[in-house]
Amino acid sequence: MKGHYAVVGNPIEHSKSPQIHAMFAEQTGEQLSYGRLWAPQDNFAAVARAFFCGGGLGLNVTVPFKEEAWQFANKLSERAHFAEAVNTLRCDDDGLLWGDNTDGVGLYRDLHDNLGIAIEAQRVLILGAGGAARGILADILAGEPSEVVIANRTAHRADELAQRFEGVGSCGLDNIPGRQFDLIINTTAAGLQGSMPALADGLLRHGGACYDLVYSDTDTPFMEWARRHHAGQVADGLGMLVEQAAESFFLWRGVRPDTQPVIGALRG
Ligand code: NAP
Repeated sequence: MKGHYAVVGNPIEHSKSPQIHAMFAEQTGEQLSYGRLWAPQDNFAAVARAFFCGGGLGLNVTVPFKEEAWQFANKLSERAHFAEAVNTLRCDDDGLLWGDNTDGVGLYRDLHDNLGIAIEAQRVLILGAGGAARGILADILAGEPSEVVIANRTAHRADELAQRFEGVGSCGLDNIPGRQFDLIINTTAAGLQGSMPALADGLLRHGGACYDLVYSDTDTPFMEWARRHHAGQVADGLGMLVEQAAESFFLWRGVRPDTQPVIGALRG
């Protein structure tokens, strides 16, 4: 069955999702089209409703609408329910919209399977407490780190998120505990504006790992910071983007694409 899909966000021009899903479709022989949808900051629901009323079968949801998409969905997967953020909507045969969140599994597969970056027994600092942080936290904790701290510009959002998990610390970005972390994951949207949160020196263990959820053809400001602070491994979020897209594709089409050639083509 041919189906129409799209990614909705604001901004949306930069999104590589249409390219990724076109490659998945070609690789698997699935008949589908996939476009970009811009929504006004205050009108996600109207844009999403019009898309599904027009026969659309599935949406990916990106900044800043994941929490609204969680409210918009009629039914939720367990992980989306838990994250209170949805990045994948699917119109089911009963006409109801099913919401899921594939960000966490996408990040875990990129860190663990593609990059060999350890989570187990590591001290992990997560920058940001928005939809992306909500989506990845359960999967990070499942990797059995020794410590997780969430630091957010608006400190109470970090506190609220951390309180839902046993043993997770929280603070403002300007109040990060003065000790070292083995892995720092930047989930803030600051990179979309070409900036990054101001971080103290000495926060990253010499040879530790840094992962920026933002992806870019050149180093992001956070990746530059990581290299200046002697990170052993530095990565952007392109691999996560492809992995979370593959999970969405599987949820929509029941076929799991091979991510490696797609990551390679996008890097190339
Ligand atoms: P969101 O729900 O809008 O949350 C944005 C987060 O960034 C909040 O914690 C916000 O802090 C913080 N923030 C925004 N501007 C900032 C600034 N100038 N300085 C410091 N903190 C700032 O967005 P999201 O859905 O979590 O997405 C966040 C980022 O992750 C985006 O860049 C997105 O593209 C990326 N992402 C990538 C992937 C991937 O597959 N690679 C997947 C998901 C998301 P406040 O709470 O204080 O506003």
